[in-house]
Amino acid sequence: MQCFVPCAVDGCGKPAFASGDTCLDHAPDREAALAAASALLESSDSARDLSFAGAALEGLNLSGRRFYACSFMGASLRSVLFTNSIFRLCFFDGALIDSCDFSRIDAQFCSFGGATISNVSFENSELLHVSFGGAAISDSTFNKSNLYDSRFIRSVLKNVDIVDCDLKRVYMLPLKQDNVSYKYSNTMEAVRDLEHLYL
Ligand SMILES: [Zn+2]
Repeated sequence: MQCFVPCAVDGCGKPAFASGDTCLDHAPDREAALAAASALLESSDSARDLSFAGAALEGLNLSGRRFYACSFMGASLRSVLFTNSIFRLCFFDGALIDSCDFSRIDAQFCSFGGATISNVSFENSELLHVSFGGAAISDSTFNKSNLYDSRFIRSVLKNVDIVDCDLKRVYMLPLKQDNVSYKYSNTMEAVRDLEHLYL
């Protein structure tokens, strides 16, 4: 599991931000810390056990990267390309994700809990054991993806296309959904009510 280096400030307890010694709140120069994080991400093929929690990242091309046990919790990600990237055990909980591309990704055991996701493509992707619990997802697409054992529990979905997807063992229990298309997807294999939970 994740083993982030802790913030160097006594009693803080948060993970150190990116490759720095402190969390973002305790960074002596917040702007410099954010710029260093962007530079680190852009220059690395892979990132492991790094926390980018609370980062504001915009306009980065992080396609084809590998992310292992990284945190983007509470981050603001705008116009970031993750096309063709690999994610294992990565956390985007509470993140604001706008106009990003997660198409053709290979993600397993990741969490987008409570994230706000808009104008995002997750098309043609492997999204296995991924949680979107409590996420607000709008104007986004998952078309032609494998969502095996992923969870949309208490999510709010608006203008979302989940077309031609493999929904085997997907927990599709949104709190609200408006204009969601499941065309050509095997919704019969998804858990769509509490009576059919796998126990
Ligand atoms: Zn700290």
